[in-house]
Amino acid sequence: MGRKRAYAIKREILDLILEVSKENFPNEFAGVLRCEKGIITEIMLLPGTISGERSALLRLHMLPIDYTVVGTVHSHPTEYNNPSGADLGLFGKFGYVHIITKVPYKPDSWKAWDLDGNPYPLEVID
Ligand SMILES: [Zn+2]
Repeated sequence: MGRKRAYAIKREILDLILEVSKENFPNEFAGVLRCEKGIITEIMLLPGTISGERSALLRLHMLPIDYTVVGTVHSHPTEYNNPSGADLGLFGKFGYVHIITKVPYKPDSWKAWDLDGNPYPLEVID
């Protein structure tokens, strides 16, 4: 169990997340994170997340349970990346690390959270 904990994310994945966040603005995008040996190496974008701001995240509810998923990622079309009440409700269903990006989607416009909405330390590695 301990070994499966994500402690880092690959920089190219983070760059991709920020890029997709920007492309989808002013809508939200959402996806799930997969991890290999403690490092987040893959995001799975949810198809068809082109509708309203709120629906991207709601689509996560429709995913089948997948045990390789360590958490979620979604964008906020605002300057705040604190999890909302709805976000926290969802976090419990998918793994243990959740990334939220915010405007302007610069390299530091993201933060990782745990299930309870506490900051989750995630190292960025090249
Ligand atoms: Zn949110």
